[in-house]
Amino acid sequence: MRQSSPPIWVLGAGQLGAMLQTAGRPLALDVRPVDIEAAEVPRLEAGDLVTAEREQWPPTPVTDALSQHPRFINSRVFGRLADRKTQKALIDELGLATAPWAPVDQSTQAAELHQKFGERVLLKRRTGGYDGRGQHWLHQSRQDEIPDDWHEQAIAEQAINFDEEVSLVGARDAQGRCVFYPLTLNLHLNGILMGSAAALARLSHLQKQAEQMLEALLQHLNYVGVMAMECFRVGDRLLINELAPRVHNSGHWTQAGASINQFELHLRAIAGLPLGQPRLKGQSLMVNLVGTERNDQWLSVPGAELVWYGKEVRPGRKVGHINLVAADASDLELSLKQLQPLLPEVYKSVIDWLLSQLPQTP
Ligand code: ATP
Ligand code: MG
Repeated sequence: MRQSSPPIWVLGAGQLGAMLQTAGRPLALDVRPVDIEAAEVPRLEAGDLVTAEREQWPPTPVTDALSQHPRFINSRVFGRLADRKTQKALIDELGLATAPWAPVDQSTQAAELHQKFGERVLLKRRTGGYDGRGQHWLHQSRQDEIPDDWHEQAIAEQAINFDEEVSLVGARDAQGRCVFYPLTLNLHLNGILMGSAAALARLSHLQKQAEQMLEALLQHLNYVGVMAMECFRVGDRLLINELAPRVHNSGHWTQAGASINQFELHLRAIAGLPLGQPRLKGQSLMVNLVGTERNDQWLSVPGAELVWYGKEVRPGRKVGHINLVAADASDLELSLKQLQPLLPEVYKSVIDWLLSQLPQTP
């Protein structure tokens, strides 16, 4: 008779925490997301497990209690990856390819950044940026200056003229075994993920390269659980853009498209259960719903699986996503064409992009 698993507390109660909780149910894993602003701190027992749905957090009674628990998994990793400067230094230390970068110190001048990186330089806040917030472009021809409050608070990156953006989601267990999903192709608009497609045969030759990069990081950090690695594809070369020590938006397609989704995979890893090897159910697509009012007619689209986060809709806010999976690309094509008029105009380019990724049917 196996012992029942301890509660798994999640630092944060957003959509990722909710989806972790949902994924725990079939395995009777007691996953408990905690709102970081909650007035009451839950009573944690010594044998409980703690994980996080976010890589950084402000000090609150809840975040203090959860992050200081002795079984807060990967506790030493978060600080290191949540700061882009230490994250980039780690990637360099392991000799992995990444967008060329430099720290922005008190005395750093725009001119020296342009000398290193050329006409366009991207400043990124070291902490707190997401969905393209916390970015600032410097153009040499405009003689842009580094804004005062970006000194010490940012890194500078060379503008990468990438072919496209891909990500790899994978997990490591406590014994060091790793499993990976196939590379996901991602479309970002204004810094926000809008659509994903996996798996694509034309990217399969990059799979080993990506797995070796992420595995090097996972092993070096003794990491346990799911991590996501966002990359730029430049020809046949992958450059790491950034790492997320958690389940990731570009892995949401696995809810419909894989026998073990990324949320369950993360729980299996941290609870010491066999990771297994996810099996794919077909060609998967995801449409991110960003600042979009809910339309129940989406549910009439064949095969559409809606995950609605139940949050207030605000511009630029991720409020849900729609997954589609099918063995046959022509089924996906029909579904996308039915979905398109049910979405706001801005999604036309997203749907067209997804259509363009489908394997050509004869
Ligand atoms: P996330 O929400 O994924 O955490 P983020 O806002 O924290 O994103 P990044 O992923 O670093 O930050 O950047 C967002 C997007 O901006 C990227 O997906 C890419 O489209 C673009 N971008 C980032 N860095 C560069 C670069 N060096 N050159 C060109 N484009 C870039
Ligand atoms: Mg990103």
